[in-house]
Amino acid sequence: MRISVDTEACTGHALCFGIAPDVFVLDELGYNVTPAGEVAPELEEQARRGALSCPEMAITIEE
Ligand code: SF4
Repeated sequence: MRISVDTEACTGHALCFGIAPDVFVLDELGYNVTPAGEVAPELEEQARRGALSCPEMAITIEE
């Protein structure tokens, strides 16, 4: 699984981090600055739930 974040679409709700703190990285203002890349298998479910939580649909998952 790969994740990527559209930083232009992110509005800094931090909901993704609340659900998937082991996957996503926020800056000091709460914006998602996670580098695009592979997700460890044990974190895939957390990543999916975090992506679904984003009201801006700023997180893309490629299975
Ligand atoms: S939930 Fe979406 S909009 Fe909010 S910080 Fe995470 S990626 Fe950004």
